[in-house]
Amino acid sequence: MSAVSPARTRYDCVVIGGGHNGLSCAAFLARAGRSVLVLEASTRLGGAAVTREFAPGFRVSAGAHLLHQMSAQLIGELELEHHGLQWAAQGMSTVSLAHGAAPLTLGPEGQIEGQGIAQDLRAYPAFATQMRRFAAALNPVLEKTPPRLGTDRWSDRLNLLGLGWRIRRLGRRDMRELLRIGGMNAYDLLTEHFSSPLLQGALGFDAVLGTNFGPRSPGTVMTLLYRLAAQFGSSTRGVALPKGGLGAVSDALAGAARKAGAEIRLETPVERVLVADDRACGVRLHSGQSISAGAVISSADPKASLLGLVGAEHLDAGFVRRLTHLRTRGLAAKLHLALEDLPMFAELPPAAHGARLVVAPSLNYLEHAYNHSKYDEYSQAPALEITLPTVCDPTLAPRGKHVLSAVVQYAPYQVRGGWAQERTAFTRRIIDTIAQFAPGIRALIRASELLTPQDLEQEFRTTGGHWHHADLALDQFFMVRPVPGATQYGTPLAGFYLCGAGCHPGGGVMGIAGRNAARQVLAQAART
Ligand SMILES: Cc1cc2nc3c(=O)[nH]c(=O)nc-3n(C[C@H](O)[C@H](O)[C@H](O)COP(=O)(O)OP(=O)(O)OC[C@H]3O[C@@H](n4cnc5c(N)ncnc54)[C@H](O)[C@@H]3O)c2cc1C
Repeated sequence: MSAVSPARTRYDCVVIGGGHNGLSCAAFLARAGRSVLVLEASTRLGGAAVTREFAPGFRVSAGAHLLHQMSAQLIGELELEHHGLQWAAQGMSTVSLAHGAAPLTLGPEGQIEGQGIAQDLRAYPAFATQMRRFAAALNPVLEKTPPRLGTDRWSDRLNLLGLGWRIRRLGRRDMRELLRIGGMNAYDLLTEHFSSPLLQGALGFDAVLGTNFGPRSPGTVMTLLYRLAAQFGSSTRGVALPKGGLGAVSDALAGAARKAGAEIRLETPVERVLVADDRACGVRLHSGQSISAGAVISSADPKASLLGLVGAEHLDAGFVRRLTHLRTRGLAAKLHLALEDLPMFAELPPAAHGARLVVAPSLNYLEHAYNHSKYDEYSQAPALEITLPTVCDPTLAPRGKHVLSAVVQYAPYQVRGGWAQERTAFTRRIIDTIAQFAPGIRALIRASELLTPQDLEQEFRTTGGHWHHADLALDQFFMVRPVPGATQYGTPLAGFYLCGAGCHPGGGVMGIAGRNAARQVLAQAART
């Protein structure tokens, strides 16, 4: 923690929250010469991009566990590798597991290996190449501040024109296909192209990971394209494991922010945004201290930021209504296991244990898993994204021991019976699912930790414990994210900005929302 002069109570910019987006925002503001103070409530930086101990000697990326969306440009601009970011693995393959059958492997460059699915093996490269072309065309949409509709500003018009031009440049056939599939569901698209349930399930899982959807939900081709587009601009050649876990990304961002002159305070929760003359003018801390600032930027989720920290009394009724209706209930849980040894997954060669392992053996499996969550039940047969980070990064566990980290879908925010009662049964259900593929795993478990959406909400201070701070859906995306009136990082309250995953482009460890918000703060200052 950097030393802070107790006398200093005025900064150009105060950033609420030291998650990776708050840190990215702070770094860009400080590099532009602003005095910046980051206030983080927790004892640790990083928000949901954090590494922490969950059993004595065992550390894990407690929220996000794979990096695949952080843009190469941002990593380069902030010199994150110079600030300590190193890689335990890059360009990881995805291995999709099926009970009693050979696994299917998808490589980072469109490679595919599988057995008994000759027709799909031939069809996949063309599909992957086309999706890559779409991802390349859409990637700049994610990187930029979305345009505002119906304004006279040339920057907004040019931005919209640029989007149209990129799609036009795809050529007639691709353009038509993109427009055709854009609003479809993943189930219909994937069953058009492939007949192997295992391949369909693996691709469908990417469409619904972190969302409130099953593969038959409308808009899931959009969420698949979103993932691919963000991945397209990343420097990690697909999925990667930072050395030391995702916390290492946040540490590097903090290093960049500090080097540029930003101050960071831990264990400093903000209680209120101060408002004077209809403008944000600073913050009041939980301790009672007030700090004044020309701009206040919050990386907390939109509801917590605007309804909690600003207060509805400073916002108009229509805007408050839109915010209240923002869907923020998470459906993803996290399971962490401390293991005495490496569990052996049947049918998997030892070298493949370091891959991203997926349990989503068919689209119907995923849809059934999702169905439970509609009725406040957890999935009886959950879909899983499993990593064994210690295969590539032994520093996370005592010598010879291992960590298993799994994203689990679907776990409703509120489960029937309550999580206090259902936690043990769900943990057992997830371990049973893993044990179908790694039969000896139960005997290796020294400790386990399950984080339900309610736990994630508490640990990361995110309303609903949502992966994206708010659903990523057609009505909460791009030009209308999070809600009309707050779509370009600014809000109806002058001087108050949002910079977290609830803004465009959404969640995932990218740092783009933080960077774009910093640009908006600077642009607004230049205009006034
Ligand atoms: C289970 C799960 C698994 C995931 N897996 C992946 C993955 O593998 N890969 C990936 O790319 N993404 C993943 N994600 C998504 C990703 O973790 C998030 O989208 C991202 O970390 C959000 O970053 P952020 O900086 O916008 O917000 P956050 O990380 O939520 O940070 C917000 C920060 O603000 C602080 N804060 C809040 N209120 C206050 C206050 N009043 N005062 C001071 N500080 C405050 C919080 O303590 C927190 O540190 C996952 C998410 C979940 C929930």
